[in-house]
Amino acid sequence: MEREAMEFDVLIVGGGPAGLAAAIRLKQLDAGISVCLIEKGAEIGAHILSGAIMDPRALNELIPDWQAQDAPLDTPVSEERFLILTENGGWRVPNLLLPGCFLNHGNYIISLGNLCRWLGQQAESLGVEIYPGFAGAEILYHEDGSGSCSVKGVATGDMGVGRDGQHTPAYQPGMELHAKYTLFAEGCRGHLGKQLEQKFKLRNGADPQVYGIGIKELWEIPAEQHVQGMVMHSAGWPLDADTYGGSFCYHYGDKLAAIGYVVGLGYTNPYLSPFEEFQRYKTHPNIRPMLEGGKRIAYGARAIAAGGLQALPKLIFPGGALLGDDAGLLNASRIKGSHAAIKSGMLAAAAVHEALGAARSHDELTGYPQKFRESWLFEELHQARNFKPWMSKGLYLGSLMFGIDQTLLRGKAPWTLRLTADHLKLKKAAECSPIDYPKPDGIVSFDRLSSVFLSNTHHEENQPCHLTLKDAEAAIKINLALYDAPEQRYCPAGVYEILRDETGQNPRLQINAQNCVHCKTCDIKDPTQNIDWVVPQGGEGPVYPGM
Ligand SMILES: Cc1cc2nc3c(=O)[nH]c(=O)nc-3n(C[C@H](O)[C@H](O)[C@H](O)COP(=O)(O)OP(=O)(O)OC[C@H]3O[C@@H](n4cnc5c(N)ncnc54)[C@H](O)[C@@H]3O)c2cc1C
Ligand code: SF4
Repeated sequence: MEREAMEFDVLIVGGGPAGLAAAIRLKQLDAGISVCLIEKGAEIGAHILSGAIMDPRALNELIPDWQAQDAPLDTPVSEERFLILTENGGWRVPNLLLPGCFLNHGNYIISLGNLCRWLGQQAESLGVEIYPGFAGAEILYHEDGSGSCSVKGVATGDMGVGRDGQHTPAYQPGMELHAKYTLFAEGCRGHLGKQLEQKFKLRNGADPQVYGIGIKELWEIPAEQHVQGMVMHSAGWPLDADTYGGSFCYHYGDKLAAIGYVVGLGYTNPYLSPFEEFQRYKTHPNIRPMLEGGKRIAYGARAIAAGGLQALPKLIFPGGALLGDDAGLLNASRIKGSHAAIKSGMLAAAAVHEALGAARSHDELTGYPQKFRESWLFEELHQARNFKPWMSKGLYLGSLMFGIDQTLLRGKAPWTLRLTADHLKLKKAAECSPIDYPKPDGIVSFDRLSSVFLSNTHHEENQPCHLTLKDAEAAIKINLALYDAPEQRYCPAGVYEILRDETGQNPRLQINAQNCVHCKTCDIKDPTQNIDWVVPQGGEGPVYPGM
């Protein structure tokens, strides 16, 4: 069966804040531009997971009357607390001592998923064609025969292919979507973005990208434990001082608490489990009383691109561009990327509009990186560029040095520190000690499977596994033998299991792909980069209610 093809001026892959902002801006600039946006989640917002505190700066520029248009930004930040935790206590850092990037006055506590649902409605009302449930599975190229090429569009994935690769009765070929320019806005560690970086050597001259994994739960808590507008962050326990990470907790809406934990994926001990660190954090005497009597209503996880400016790839290639977290435009010092994603979408849209106006197509959108360099976003990321490298030196030294960098030098230090890829930092199991995590109590701490249940994740079981291994034997010969199979612990959804026969011998890796919440951690942290995450059938994966 042949694939059908459709033509557009602009194709956008990914319906997060970056992709939606680009779509909206394009239509604002010229309603006649045809714009198609595809989203792998079953609906816009289904795969969005964020904190989230939103800096409204970019949204103010995109839709200045967002308040009149009922945008779901209802809870202004009213109070902030930063805690350094020890096992049984801790202390609060006075706000006066915090660098400006840690403060949130003027920002809003939101569900980014719900903001995307609202942005999706705005985009549709402007005439953007939005297709949720369609995953961009393959990049299509124009080859000119001389070795150079440009992006022609993408093909969405086939449906109804069995686990054995054979067509089932439900088989439907994917669609080819062609465009003059294709904007990739897949979020952190985009599956197609990764291929584009390799194809067009976009990372030449850039530091390796570095990441964190963020695990989040949504709770409804008793009214007397809820402080509307309160944001709380912590560092320290349960992580040791050499491992980068910390918690976030935001009170908003109707007695809701968004609570989560971020662990830098540059951690060294293969026995570490970000999921269990988060569960342990909630048992801390300062945190447990806030949750007790409440109800956990949602769970999920997502990787965060934290390398900042020095890890930024080239943003453009013939026929398209990388936007938002697909490029790594997040400000890690503020754990904020949604405003950056919106801004990058707007900048790319302006460059596309200029190019189309000059009757150009399939070339490099040079106006986009140029506009980025002249924008407040570049200035913001430049100021924050040493955050991640300093924090990789440990909590206390890193905080001191970043504090000096921000308060005394105001982000204008004459040096730029370098980054090392996360997967290279993992030590061999023999050099590390196992970590004894407490059993979940079922009140504030839980196991993986009951957690994944709250992510509403679904995948058709009879389809090719979307967690592909370049070398099937490496799972046992390298990962298990040298690192005690760290994928069993860093995967927040229990996808990877080492099973043995009844004699306890013959270990093998079982991949429970149906549980995958699309966080991309395995694609990042696998020590030999053996795991390649590819899109499953469109419309599958988590359905986050308001994350
Ligand atoms: C735990 C956590 C806490 C955070 N806290 C904050 C915060 O407090 N404030 C803040 O501003 N930022 C925060 N961030 C960062 C923020 O969420 C991101 O910077 C932002 O979501 C990036 O937007 P994006 O549009 O680039 O990507 P995303 O929001 O990730 O959206 C990408 C979209 O593309 C879709 N997609 C991906 N691949 C394909 C494909 N091949 N085909 C079709 N669709 C595809 C995805 O399903 C998704 O809907 C946090 C992130 C995490 C993980
Ligand atoms: S399999 Fe990979 S992408 Fe899926 S949830 Fe686990 S770590 Fe995340």
